[in-house]
Amino acid sequence: MPGTKEIVLTTCPRDCYDGCGIAVIKRDGKITKVLGDPAHPTARGALCGKCALGYNGVFLDAGARLTHPLLRTGPKGQGQFRRATWDEALEVVAARLKAIAAPPGGAARIIHAHYTGTCSMIAGGFPMRFFHHLGATEVEPDTVCNNAGHAALGYAIGTSADGFDPRTAKDAACILVWGANPSASAPHAHKHWLKETPAKVVAIDPVRHPTAAEAHLHLQPRPGTDAALAFALMHVIRREGKLDRAFLAAHCVGWDEIEPMLDACTPRWAEAESGVPAARIEEAARLYAAGPALLWLGQGLQRQPMGGNVFRACVALAAARGNFGKPGAGVYYLNGGRTRGIQGRHVSPPELIRPDQPSSFSQMDLAARLEDPAKAAAFITWNINPAASSPEQARLHKALAREDLLTVAIDLFPTDTTDYADVVLPAASFLEFDDLAESYFHLTLGAQAKAQEPPGEALPNQEIFRRLARAMGFNEPLLYESDESIIANILRDSIFDIDFETLKEKGWVMPPEPVIYWADLKFPTPSGRIELASAAAEADGHPRVPQPVVDAPPAGGRLRLLSPADAWLMNDTYANDPRVAERIGAEPSVTLNPEDARRLGVGEGDRVELANGTGRLVMLARVADVVRPGTALSHKGRWPKREGQRLNVNALNPGTKTDMGESSAVHGVEVSVRRVG
Ligand code: SF4
Repeated sequence: MPGTKEIVLTTCPRDCYDGCGIAVIKRDGKITKVLGDPAHPTARGALCGKCALGYNGVFLDAGARLTHPLLRTGPKGQGQFRRATWDEALEVVAARLKAIAAPPGGAARIIHAHYTGTCSMIAGGFPMRFFHHLGATEVEPDTVCNNAGHAALGYAIGTSADGFDPRTAKDAACILVWGANPSASAPHAHKHWLKETPAKVVAIDPVRHPTAAEAHLHLQPRPGTDAALAFALMHVIRREGKLDRAFLAAHCVGWDEIEPMLDACTPRWAEAESGVPAARIEEAARLYAAGPALLWLGQGLQRQPMGGNVFRACVALAAARGNFGKPGAGVYYLNGGRTRGIQGRHVSPPELIRPDQPSSFSQMDLAARLEDPAKAAAFITWNINPAASSPEQARLHKALAREDLLTVAIDLFPTDTTDYADVVLPAASFLEFDDLAESYFHLTLGAQAKAQEPPGEALPNQEIFRRLARAMGFNEPLLYESDESIIANILRDSIFDIDFETLKEKGWVMPPEPVIYWADLKFPTPSGRIELASAAAEADGHPRVPQPVVDAPPAGGRLRLLSPADAWLMNDTYANDPRVAERIGAEPSVTLNPEDARRLGVGEGDRVELANGTGRLVMLARVADVVRPGTALSHKGRWPKREGQRLNVNALNPGTKTDMGESSAVHGVEVSVRRVG
């Protein structure tokens, strides 16, 4: 291809473990290709399939993007708008917000929601400055995803943001992947990290996804029985004399309360509860106890009614083997910025939080909150599409249709949520502004480098909120800090001796090996030890120690419906890309075990109705033994507006909360299934 070639190194800011480095190829100043950076240790020259399509598809297609501010002209939900200038749109928003915030306590009726639509640091965090200053009410972001795990690890370890350095896999005898599907959610970890490790890989997952299928050993439990498995694994480890009693005595609180429970938790008992053969439980215990072992706790594992209890039981398993503070050992959920010296306060300074800051509330309560005018007068979203991703979908859509609710949606694309908005503000994509992005698995910190101008009049989130602050008449200087200043502050205080220009040239940096988490075996809990028994948990109404309890199996012929990530979607990002849409199919599908399909008289390709007290949805039936009898599988992330039924799988989600953290127990949803065509 003729023309001047330029390569811009940047970083993928999706909500993904891999944190790939990206090489943007430009010819004559125009992006021609978005590729994996060959020199990046994770990407190794290739993006995952969904990003390869999306970044070279809708992300570069100005016709698919939101390019100008829009004001609603038709009924809510119909997506009918007229173009507006930025000044006009922001004036409309500011006038309404000022009126709502004027009476005492009024700002608390301004609800704002955000999550991981873009995970770069400034775009993802800067808007919090505005909402803190305003005193608005936040929808607690993690409650739609992983807050039960955060709460449980908080009780046990004191933090959920320090796991293990993936590079220490070379020192591990075993990697236990529990309730995660790297083949969909960490494709490079699946393709490279798990393949190259000398450790034996054990997967525990109710779905036989590609990572589970390729593992040395796969345990496929009935959903909701993971705590029984954890206790049975500890039973075997104790029986075989493999407990690290010195570690338990010196660095843990409460083992003496757990150990008596192990007597009854035999592999045979766990087989009866979970459906996993006792011999496989014993084999998994021996593999896990063969040496230092890594335990990867997936987000899916805690998205069930007793997800917090399960996580605490898993920490007890790791503690039973002393798997902390040494090479090849650890419990991973997320790796935050601590070991990289990355300080969130540079993005969202805590001094902006008002003393009368209203409490956040669970995403599980979003529909109920938004339908109540006394509690919600405005709803502002950025980086999130709750009309597709939140529970109680039909109820939520009705609440979003409230004429008196001011809805402002900031996004790249016209989503279901923007269709309900009064004001739509077009956001720039990661290719269109400078930022920083850190992987929450690998310990990389990457430059997000501007590779092109945003289409039309789209702006980075942070600039939108600077302009909105101005329209509101706010004088607080922190609401106007420049991106350059924030990036410089973050890099200055990080462990990396690097400026942004150099980082952009290199693409990424990483701490030197080895990073051993908890090397001093001091944990940020009240006792400084791992709290298998937690007074804080008890004070919050939970048992002092994790319990070997399981969920009751679905009754009345119902199935437990799992709705995890699709390999072609990133939450609900990409569903609007035509090539991705081809791959996920024109209709939603549900996979049933052959035994259930026979019982229900359902064949491959039949249409079935899934129903429960929250909703009903027709899907195409697939029949395969990737799920156990009693379990159904339908991936999340389709856009309701693109479906004939104008709903997706979240129409069946009642928004039940987990035992801890008020988080989503979406993998506990039960449905009845019947053939309808
Ligand atoms: S979504 Fe994940 S796997 Fe795909 S390119 Fe981004 S970081 Fe890599």
